[in-house]
Amino acid sequence: MTDTMEKATNIDFDALCDGWDREHLWHPYTSATEPLPTYMVESAKGCRIKLAGGRELIDGMSSWWCVIHGYNNPVINQAAIDQIQAMSHVMFGGLTHRPAVELGKRLLRMAPPSMHNIFYADSGSVAVEVAMKMAVQAAISRSGSHNKTNFATIRAGYHGDTWNAMSVCDPVTGMHGAFGPALPVRFFVPQPCSRFHGEWNPDDIRPLRELFEAKADEIAAVILEPIVQGAGGMWFYHPQYLREARKLCDEFGIYLIFDEIATGFWRTGRLFAWEHAGVEPDIMCVGKGLTAGYMTLSAVLTTSEVARTISEGEAGVMMHGPTFMANPLACAVANASLQLLEESEMQQIVAHMESVLNEELSPARRLHCVADVRVLGSIGVVETKQPVDVGRFQKECVRRGVWIRPFGTRVYVMPPYITPDEDLRTLCREMLNILQNYQWT
Ligand code: PLP
Repeated sequence: MTDTMEKATNIDFDALCDGWDREHLWHPYTSATEPLPTYMVESAKGCRIKLAGGRELIDGMSSWWCVIHGYNNPVINQAAIDQIQAMSHVMFGGLTHRPAVELGKRLLRMAPPSMHNIFYADSGSVAVEVAMKMAVQAAISRSGSHNKTNFATIRAGYHGDTWNAMSVCDPVTGMHGAFGPALPVRFFVPQPCSRFHGEWNPDDIRPLRELFEAKADEIAAVILEPIVQGAGGMWFYHPQYLREARKLCDEFGIYLIFDEIATGFWRTGRLFAWEHAGVEPDIMCVGKGLTAGYMTLSAVLTTSEVARTISEGEAGVMMHGPTFMANPLACAVANASLQLLEESEMQQIVAHMESVLNEELSPARRLHCVADVRVLGSIGVVETKQPVDVGRFQKECVRRGVWIRPFGTRVYVMPPYITPDEDLRTLCREMLNILQNYQWT
């Protein structure tokens, strides 16, 4: 591997950052007193982000996995403009509108066949909150017991940053440490070790069975990111785990929630990740690619059984109703995003990205700093032996004209689906060049 793309090294990094921003604006997971650098963006188009001063970066992140059709997409732009001219918002209590109805129909066409009712929410984390509330309301109504209100999940998961979503994130690498006993206590079982492309080890499912045997009376639902655990570790596990979990949920009367917020809309090579296993959840969350990075919107889908059980329960209604529910502008943008997916040969596009990622990232296995390389769909992960310093790594990315944001020992790309081959290859090569030349402390 050679350093093929030696870029200008004399970049004035201070000129790319903004002093006021540094002093006053909190960025995600960042100290107010010693923030990491943040680079000023002027505009973005396709798979390129343009920084102040004109420097262009090839985007490897899809802005935390949501900008699936690229930036400044003309079709989605037009859908937003058209909808603004009709109305940006009306309340969803007592009113409805075409964008919400059209989006609902589209989602049900795409979702697992047993999905029947849809609840629109504001963001991925809020979708997880809504899904958990649904499960509790349905579990109490179905069992008649107010005890059946807790949740089980696997370690190394990530489901968002709101209170209940945090409570089902990994207890060690997640946010439990910072919030201590303020968080509800959930049941955690080990993460499945069987790899997506490897052999299934039946030992993987045993802890879930043992937990159910001991605690089924207390558990409303199991929540899982199907196949790909994202921000908790970028781990791809065996589809048999989902089949076994489904069987156990049926046996013990526990609902199964699939959080498809990161995996949905073709990211893993299938429209949704449940398709790899062929088992359907009782409740499913979607977000991110739904609105292609234009607006914040998510949806929680469920079966008619869950919807009916909630409606026949104590409250008789689903107890949630945010101000911006089913925001028409967000729904119109989502309709355009999903229509683009419907009109594209997504299976081929993502399969091709997978083959390029495999080809370009495989050489990383020879680097002494690398512990593992894994690719699924349009997700390419290089796991390093030691954690990387994000600030230092990103400075090198900016120098080389790519945008990658690693966390811990996970250096990965999840580029927009419209990324040309040449850019995808450059992204991977620069990532490997940075790792090869990285000064490990
Ligand atoms: N669930 C999963 C699987 C996610 O990956 C994320 C975000 O990365 C969320 C939930 C939270 O979504 P949001 O950041 O939109 O609240």
